[in-house]
Amino acid sequence: MADAPPTLEIITVDSPRAAVLRRRAQPVRAVTREIQQLIDQMFDAMHEAHGIGLAAPQVGIGRRVIVIEFQKSRHALVDPEILRQEGEEIAPEACLSIPGWVGDVPRALKVVVRARNRRGRYVTINADSMLARILQHEIDHLDGILFPERIRDRATYHHVDDAPSEVAAQEPPQS
Ligand code: ZN
Repeated sequence: MADAPPTLEIITVDSPRAAVLRRRAQPVRAVTREIQQLIDQMFDAMHEAHGIGLAAPQVGIGRRVIVIEFQKSRHALVDPEILRQEGEEIAPEACLSIPGWVGDVPRALKVVVRARNRRGRYVTINADSMLARILQHEIDHLDGILFPERIRDRATYHHVDDAPSEVAAQEPPQS
């Protein structure tokens, strides 16, 4: 076995490579071994950053791949599409690519998402509330959209100082 590849760096908006965050990512179509390896590396990078979701452009790869780990359920989704959405809920969001900033974002309360999984099989996810929010945030990344663009009430967008880890759970989840 070869050595494990190094953890992927998360691209932030002030990075020299930030342009990838604003570009529409390309469809994957065939879930190859390279894509499976990308998925595994994205899970590693997300865990290291204590995130709950991550999109491939956030690690500098302009392909339509997202990973999510929320309440013990793991999702690796390739070419995800929102088939239906319903309702609205406004809640705080943060982003691993925009460290320290939070703001209230309106999102559909429920979504139905179709995608392929790590094995290339089609899956349909019926999600509401927080999981629906994470899915919308990550799929936005694939279209080059960052959460501040979705904020309706600009007064809610603010910077928070680094908090000790014991209160991290009270901060908005980062993805
Ligand atoms: Zn994000």
